[in-house]
Amino acid sequence: MDCNFRIGNGFDVHRLVEGRELWLCGIRIDHSLGLLGHSDADVAIHALCDALLGALALGDIGKLFPDSDSRFKGIDSKILLRHVALEIKSRGWKIGNCDITVMAEQPKLRPHIDRMRDTLAEVMEIPPDRVSVKATTTERLGFTGRMEGIAAQASALLFR
Ligand code: MG
Repeated sequence: MDCNFRIGNGFDVHRLVEGRELWLCGIRIDHSLGLLGHSDADVAIHALCDALLGALALGDIGKLFPDSDSRFKGIDSKILLRHVALEIKSRGWKIGNCDITVMAEQPKLRPHIDRMRDTLAEVMEIPPDRVSVKATTTERLGFTGRMEGIAAQASALLFR
């Protein structure tokens, strides 16, 4: 029997450094530190892409967009997400919903959540009520708590 639902999860971490812009869930956030990476280092979009790809066992964004490829240097991660969403669509699948948790001690993300959801929804061409973005601290514990980096995890459900 065919399975008409697929679930995927993704996880990513990037280091926080000085002299970089902070991009999370497709929007730029004013902060003294930014995430280091080959692309814009949007850790939340990377986790989301991996959840979407994982649902169809298509590998991960490192496989699709290798950081050895100069075409992806400094790239807006929304472009990667768009590509992943189109890949899913082309295979006859639709995005049911997705749920992202960002782990960061600072900055406070609550004021940005709605714009993050709207931005991701627009890129994936789905209604914002199917996109959840949550933020948590890790109670000052670990590398996120010490503000050495930001982590994100995501789940996604696909259907056809
Ligand atoms: Mg990444």
